[in-house]
Amino acid sequence: MPSLNHVCMWVDNQWKPVKAHEIVSLHQIGGVSGYSGLFMCSLCGQYVTFANGDVYTAYFKHRKEELSKDCPERTFGAGYQIQYDTKKHDLPLKIHINRGELSFEIGLIKVPPEYLNKDLFIEIRSDDETESFRYNNERLLPDAVNYLYVGKNPSRQYSIRVHNASKNIELYWPSIIAGVDPEGTMFDAESGKKLPVDADVVINKAYYLLTRNRIYTSYPGVDIREIYEGHKNGQYIRVYRVEAKAYSERSACFFLDHHCRLTEHPVKIQPIWPVYADSPYLIKHNRKEMYLHIAGEAELHLFPTASSRVFPCSNGKIAGITVNNKQQFISVGRTQVLKYKYFWQEPIQKPLSEHTVNVVDKRNNTVVSGVTDRLPEDRIIRCTLPYDGTVVIKEKGIIKGKRSVKADEQTTINNINWGTSVTVFMGLHPVWEASFEKAISESQGEDELLSKLRACSGNMVDVPHSFGSFAHYFKNYPKIRQWIYQCVRQGRMPEKALKLLKSTVVNGGNE
Ligand SMILES: [Zn+2]
Repeated sequence: MPSLNHVCMWVDNQWKPVKAHEIVSLHQIGGVSGYSGLFMCSLCGQYVTFANGDVYTAYFKHRKEELSKDCPERTFGAGYQIQYDTKKHDLPLKIHINRGELSFEIGLIKVPPEYLNKDLFIEIRSDDETESFRYNNERLLPDAVNYLYVGKNPSRQYSIRVHNASKNIELYWPSIIAGVDPEGTMFDAESGKKLPVDADVVINKAYYLLTRNRIYTSYPGVDIREIYEGHKNGQYIRVYRVEAKAYSERSACFFLDHHCRLTEHPVKIQPIWPVYADSPYLIKHNRKEMYLHIAGEAELHLFPTASSRVFPCSNGKIAGITVNNKQQFISVGRTQVLKYKYFWQEPIQKPLSEHTVNVVDKRNNTVVSGVTDRLPEDRIIRCTLPYDGTVVIKEKGIIKGKRSVKADEQTTINNINWGTSVTVFMGLHPVWEASFEKAISESQGEDELLSKLRACSGNMVDVPHSFGSFAHYFKNYPKIRQWIYQCVRQGRMPEKALKLLKSTVVNGGNE
């Protein structure tokens, strides 16, 4: 019998992908700590059983008595590949519990302003079409997620019709979004936001569970309190406040029953470079290349397709994305979207763009600006400028050469080495800059990196409070962490230091 291919095992306080033959090997070497024998199918979120045999015959199967039979792997066979829709996502849906009454709101995330006409109106309907809510343009605040009231009754899904707007708006506001499943829907208690199916949950954090089923059993390790009961849509509904107190098998089972994964390492996405405007679902930036930190068990997905590189790091991975589109949709997920953000490119005012400068290597390949850990072939690059300008060459921060370059004349820079940086100026404005930095390995030590950071001068950039999480990459470098925190407190950091930190994380993770 072919084994199921998308099985996770509860081990070390999280769900980790596992293959049947690996379990047999674990038995043979005496097992591992934290091993529980608790398995689930990550496609349908149901428990599976492990049929023991030798390495060649062991397999996972769905249990006969399972409640729902709708597992894609059962229908389509063992070769089933996850069909992740890179465009599909839901809008945030909030529950409010106030004075014994429930109410719901849908969050319309910000869209490009040119998509909306003045006489726009929005119609949101519940699935049985009994309730309809209309809003016009005046109700929408700019630069915000606009939460719109959609009634007191939970609906399994909501349809959103937008009149007098660009058709592209569906990329932001889908015409149908998932609502509340009365079999069991989980919300974050603090924000009231619904969790997606298969979401990650953590201990010591409260969630609301809306369900028509009464919870009779007590679960060791999970604190469960009923906070609402009442009739909704002709059925009895209860809301429980639930909070796991420990990473135990029993608490993991409780959340799995409601399609959530208890884990010490929840999925998160955090932009790390460039540092620009970050809001809940939207990041505005002005670069072609950007870096994200992805924590937890999930893959990166891009729409429209864009090139990306993913490097492992100490607690997840770093993704470098080349953004060619003015608006880029980025999501992370397993079988479906768990977290997402839109990236909007909004160029800051520059007199001339870097594209007007042509910098190539010996073979005429473009050399991009930024920090790079590769030296060009034969250590030369050639620059051509559309206007008269200046090229400044530095070695380890000290100016070694400065030359004037006439418009459309090519100039060759030789002897590029580690620590060399080249900046092209037109007038007073730097329009292209690259520094060639050797990747720093752990063994090179903390003090060297620290002295490099301290030596950074020049342009300062703002670092928001959230940047403090960047310090996690320097777990074993207390002095570097302290230096980062100090910058966060001051709210500023030299741009060069930020570049250096970024390249350290990216290159360090790649080794
Ligand atoms: Zn399944």
